[in-house]
Amino acid sequence: MTQAVIEPATEQVLAEVGTTAAAELDRVVDAARAAQRHWWSLAPSARGAALAAIAAGIEAEAATLARLEARNVGMPIGDARGAVAGAAATFRYYAATPERLGGTTIPVAGGVDMTFREPLGVVGVITPWNFPLTIASWKIAPALAAGNAVVHKPAALTPMTAIELGRIGLEAGLPEGLLSVVVGSGSELGRALVEHPDVAKVSLTGSTAVGVDVGERAARQIKRVSLELGGKSPSIVFADADLDQAAAGLAGGVFGNAGQDCCARSRVFVERVALEPFLERLERTVAGMRVGDPLDEETEMGPLISAGHRTAVAEYTAGAQIAMQGSVPDGPGYWFPPTVLHPLADGDRAAREEIFGPVVGILPFDREEEAIARANATPYGLAGSIWTRDGARALRVARGLEAGALAINSYTSVRLGTPFGGFKQSGIGRELGADAPEAYTELKNVFMSTEG
Ligand code: NAD
Repeated sequence: MTQAVIEPATEQVLAEVGTTAAAELDRVVDAARAAQRHWWSLAPSARGAALAAIAAGIEAEAATLARLEARNVGMPIGDARGAVAGAAATFRYYAATPERLGGTTIPVAGGVDMTFREPLGVVGVITPWNFPLTIASWKIAPALAAGNAVVHKPAALTPMTAIELGRIGLEAGLPEGLLSVVVGSGSELGRALVEHPDVAKVSLTGSTAVGVDVGERAARQIKRVSLELGGKSPSIVFADADLDQAAAGLAGGVFGNAGQDCCARSRVFVERVALEPFLERLERTVAGMRVGDPLDEETEMGPLISAGHRTAVAEYTAGAQIAMQGSVPDGPGYWFPPTVLHPLADGDRAAREEIFGPVVGILPFDREEEAIARANATPYGLAGSIWTRDGARALRVARGLEAGALAINSYTSVRLGTPFGGFKQSGIGRELGADAPEAYTELKNVFMSTEG
């Protein structure tokens, strides 16, 4: 069976790709189990070398991969180049893991106690369509580095770079079957992967609704899960902040990837005395956004991923008060303009739910504690920003916010070397950083008697 992959900027078919039926998963997982045993038997340095070779393989094809990602996702080409470079850097970073993933010795009476970090076996990796290669690398690199095999199910809308990554892995020397890519729907193939008895862990990035379904099914087998889910992240802008940067930065902070970013700062709380000057600056940001062909070097924002998603995003703005709106190209493509909602009440749907489009709500506040309480009044807790020149206040607010990935005077929440993940219903577990491979291991404890 095959499925068509659509290019969101043109609405044309980009490719026909082969799909995997749920019934074929047994064969894929069996091959993964066999490959994992071989992989784990290799010297740590050999496993590290293979991961470094994947990084080099990605870099060797960087221009082609970036173009493919840009066309499949509708992501501006400059962003896609960054995504490809980031994926290579991720494999290179975790190439160091196999030789460093040590255990500990623990002082005990009567002998020696030691711990080992051992692979889980086969890991099911399920990724969304918004940053396909980036998120795949965040999971696959540490999982392989910890000695596991991976069966990767990319989002059906964006399988292109996942398929290429599977090939690059093989060419880099991974044993056949160690990294498999299976294309298909979440409701059938995704569920089958979650429920497969020989898949030891599922690492999902997706919506909170899908996270609940995956978590429930995994729980029946006490299967390990890592869940990186949705967000409704705040930015809190105090009157003493650099308002130019706070407003200009929203070009990336909420309109980046057309707002299809789990960390999008879609609720911007602005101290009331700074509201007018902030809105003036934001007007310039919105008017200046270049929305258009993802392959044009000048483009800052591309289309949404699909017609259905555009309809869903439009529903949030239909009854709301639109204070500002940018422009979009005519003709084919799932375009949606950068949009600012104001005034907006905290209880309005657009202020509560993850829109996953280029739509930001402006919410004035008067006091610091009020801003923290309102920012926290959400089931989500992924990211957030604090804009102020007062260092003590910045740290006070950062400690008060219920979110996993915060930035002060910045909208960047993600760095390869630092942990990333959500509080509350934004997820379970952390990705990136030096500790990420541990989430793909079991901790084994061994006591050896030295008596008699
Ligand atoms: P989605 O939840 O619809 O799908 C994610 C993946 O899960 C896809 O591969 C899909 O096929 C699969 N899937 C769907 N239903 C499934 C099921 N019942 N069982 C197993 N697999 C299933 O998400 P999406 O629309 O592709 O992506 C957008 C969502 O992802 C947003 O909510 C966004 O916030 C979230 N996201 C989170 C992060 C993060 O790091 N926290 C990063 C990016 C995106």
